[in-house]
Amino acid sequence: MSLIVQKYGGTSVGSPERIRAVAERVGEAQSAGHQVVVVVSAMSGETDRLIKLARQVSPYPSDRELDMLLATGEQASIALLAMALHERGLEAKSFAAHQVRIVTDSVHTRARILHIEDQRIRQELERGRVVIVAGFQGVDENQEITTLGRGGSDTSGVALAAALKAEYCEIFTDVDGVYTADPRIVPEAKKMQSISYDEMLELAGLGAKVLQIRSVEFAMKYGVRVHVRSSMNHEEGTWVLKEDASMEKVMVRGVTSNTNEAKIIIKGVPDKPGLAALIFGEIAKANISVDMIVQNVSEDGKTDITFTVPKTDSHKAMEVINDKIVSEHDVAAVKCDDKIAKLSVVGVGMRSHSGIAAQMFQALAAVGINIMMISTSEIAISCVIDVKFSELGVRVLHETFELGK
Ligand code: ADP
Ligand code: ASP
Ligand code: MG
Repeated sequence: MSLIVQKYGGTSVGSPERIRAVAERVGEAQSAGHQVVVVVSAMSGETDRLIKLARQVSPYPSDRELDMLLATGEQASIALLAMALHERGLEAKSFAAHQVRIVTDSVHTRARILHIEDQRIRQELERGRVVIVAGFQGVDENQEITTLGRGGSDTSGVALAAALKAEYCEIFTDVDGVYTADPRIVPEAKKMQSISYDEMLELAGLGAKVLQIRSVEFAMKYGVRVHVRSSMNHEEGTWVLKEDASMEKVMVRGVTSNTNEAKIIIKGVPDKPGLAALIFGEIAKANISVDMIVQNVSEDGKTDITFTVPKTDSHKAMEVINDKIVSEHDVAAVKCDDKIAKLSVVGVGMRSHSGIAAQMFQALAAVGINIMMISTSEIAISCVIDVKFSELGVRVLHETFELGK
């Protein structure tokens, strides 16, 4: 008997009717002869509602308590799905992450999964039950509840599929696959039949929220085949799998933008050895991940350093810079700009084709979009632009690289 993992996102369990529809779909998979492990997200809007609630009580709540609060969203939906399965006469049991031991590190609000114990799940499956596991949450070695970062149920699903050596992992969402761009921004975007782990990793990391980046890391590391598809129909979606030769023929496979970063500019930094190490050392100590970094050519022994961090960490980053750098070193000013977007094109074909950056910059210039920062990887090029041009930028690049054809 083959084991599969199905993950249902927030919209897919967004109402009692949707939950009943998911129960029907899970029943179909079981009737088709699979052992089924189901991972669910909180009902759509619930995590946002809880975050808002927390902020009304405290503008900067403790991360531990935030996790305690946010984990309730998924705990509600697993129980509701179990009830819906019981209504269909199926045996099912729901579990919070600590009950099946999805063990993570202790970095609250963005914990990483360290390992998953599979005995309990296997026992329940052997008894013919559907096992429903709360997505997004974990437990650390001190029994503290953690969460995996926004969109983290994808990672719960793929990590469970890896731990249980599932045949594949289905990610059910509100679009019917991975598109060449977010179909909400570009109506002409095309659904891809398949996409390589590397490309999906870049797209997810650069803002395409259809999969959380860590889920793709897990899939790639453990070779989990992931099928992204709609919970509203039975059409074939997009398979995320190993690269094949045909994929290199296409230069650009997808366009994406990310509006979740803020830019921090430190002006007039003394240009001497050790300062960059100090700045980014302090930022790292605060557990803040830095994305792009640009240092200007120095003038009169002073230079400007600009870098981007997640918007949610910009307040903390500014505090660290003000406390540890500005007050102790001769720095002119620090500014934070959160009205930015990072626009990116991705494709494994970039390894063997040149000229894509030039084409991208020309296309943006032609519509008057100014580029503030640029970064590249082997298979992606990104530009930081004014956030008000974010969607226009995506549409322009989608057209420039003829992705709708
Ligand atoms: P879920 O709640 O099921 O996890 P998400 O909202 O997290 O769903 O992710 C699905 C959304 O991702 C889609 O509704 C779509 O707007 C967005 N998205 C962004 N980029 C892409 C892309 N390239 N292909 C498909 N969807 C995308
Ligand atoms: N409920 C969580 C969120 O909204 C996790 C998820 O949906 O994947 O981010
Ligand atoms: Mg999601």
